[in-house]
Amino acid sequence: MPISPEQQAEIDAQRAQSAPTLRAVSEGMEAHLYTAHEVLDHGFIRVIDYMGDDAAICQAARVSYGKGTKSVQNDEGLIRYLMRHWHSTPFEMCEIKLHVKLPVFVARQWIRHRTANVNEYSARYSILDREFYIPAPEHVNAQSVVNNQGRGGVLEGAEAARVLEILKSDSNRAYDNYEAMIGTEGPDGEAQDGLARELARMNLPTNIYTQWYWKVDLHNLFHFLRLRADPHAQYEIRVYADAICKVVADWVPAAYGAFEDYRLGGASLSGRALDCIRRMLAGEEMTQENSGMSKGEWREFEGVIR
Ligand SMILES: Cc1cc2nc3c(=O)[nH]c(=O)nc-3n(C[C@H](O)[C@H](O)[C@H](O)COP(=O)(O)OP(=O)(O)OC[C@H]3O[C@@H](n4cnc5c(N)ncnc54)[C@H](O)[C@@H]3O)c2cc1C
Repeated sequence: MPISPEQQAEIDAQRAQSAPTLRAVSEGMEAHLYTAHEVLDHGFIRVIDYMGDDAAICQAARVSYGKGTKSVQNDEGLIRYLMRHWHSTPFEMCEIKLHVKLPVFVARQWIRHRTANVNEYSARYSILDREFYIPAPEHVNAQSVVNNQGRGGVLEGAEAARVLEILKSDSNRAYDNYEAMIGTEGPDGEAQDGLARELARMNLPTNIYTQWYWKVDLHNLFHFLRLRADPHAQYEIRVYADAICKVVADWVPAAYGAFEDYRLGGASLSGRALDCIRRMLAGEEMTQENSGMSKGEWREFEGVIR
């Protein structure tokens, strides 16, 4: 269950309240505030708090007072200019705080993004829930034969069933032993006579879910999204990045539009690649051999231009 009834009641109570503010408000983000967007089988992302909007980026860029907005068109043009020229600090003026529930093996990839503030659920203090990521059948793939860091075709029939059964039974067996090692609970939920929670957890598999609060500024969030909403990223983290992209598009539409165009949709080209394009435009027949690029570079270059 991605959201427990208690968490949903808390979300409903938070959304039922509102308070007047003099701060900049993004209407698009207000619609998302506190609401959980489900990801994978038990996970979610939800916005806990945010600061700033498109105008805050422009205001910082102009280092002016007041709203800093001349017109929407002007702001959009300025934001696109900032994105195009890697003028990144104005984007750092916006912040987002997310509550994320995710499998531990996804959290290991996510935590590599060091330019954020994190506070994680303590499995030393609390007992983890019996919630494990079990991939949907269409995401149970064979190892790729062309990319060591990727997936091949979907496993079918008995082979897929065997893998899913192993994942489920190993997870449950590990959790049964986790509970057995922790022992009984006292009246206030404290462990009695059992192994310390900080030790009992070490046998749990990395598909168990954890939760954290993750706060990051928009510049570093875009960096995270560029890497993790990319087809090269593992599916299980990509779906989180995709869910965050939808929220960011509503929060700062102009900044997200520029990010989508220049970063997600754009590509950076080497000097050799640019030279190759110039020679192509001049009518020269270009191949990997006369381009000066390696086979890998040429394959990626063709992937960009064809
Ligand atoms: C498809 C994919 C495959 C990957 N495969 C592997 C792998 O096999 N093994 C592995 O270990 N990792 C792997 N990674 C993780 C990757 O190497 C980065 O650690 C991760 O993407 C975080 O990127 P970052 O350091 O740019 O982000 P952040 O930590 O958010 O940093 C953002 C930027 O801040 C600057 N910065 C932050 N900290 C420092 C610092 N201490 N010193 C200097 N500059 C700093 C850098 O410019 C950096 O780009 C992979 C990532 C992806 C997307």
